[in-house]
Amino acid sequence: MELVPTQKEIYKPTFDETLDVFIDLCPFKPRQRNIINYECRCKYGSGFRTYSEFKKHIETKSHKNFLINYSRYDEELDKLKQEYKKMTIENEFLKRKNKRLSRENELLNEKLDEYENVEYHDCQSHEDKK
Ligand SMILES: [Zn+2]
Repeated sequence: MELVPTQKEIYKPTFDETLDVFIDLCPFKPRQRNIINYECRCKYGSGFRTYSEFKKHIETKSHKNFLINYSRYDEELDKLKQEYKKMTIENEFLKRKNKRLSRENELLNEKLDEYENVEYHDCQSHEDKK
């Protein structure tokens, strides 16, 4: 028997441009061997793994309410998540840049210290001669 790891995904309703609303489209292809567990945000812990479970799920009251409110809440949430992802990437980039600049600064400070030490020793040796 072939062992296929189970994937987990968040189910998202599809936007119907003709009707201008979100609708439920079954994410499974006919006769597909299901390796994806869909989680639905309509209710904590709810989801489906098969076409029949999907059909049953979209008829529940919590899912119907979820679909009506989807454009108002979840679309906003998805946008924020996208924004968050973008900013996380940007932040990572800036962290690396900051690290690189700190290192450069450290090296320059070390050079400056060396330079100042040389001058200081020179001065000391001059004073010793007096
Ligand atoms: Zn649902």
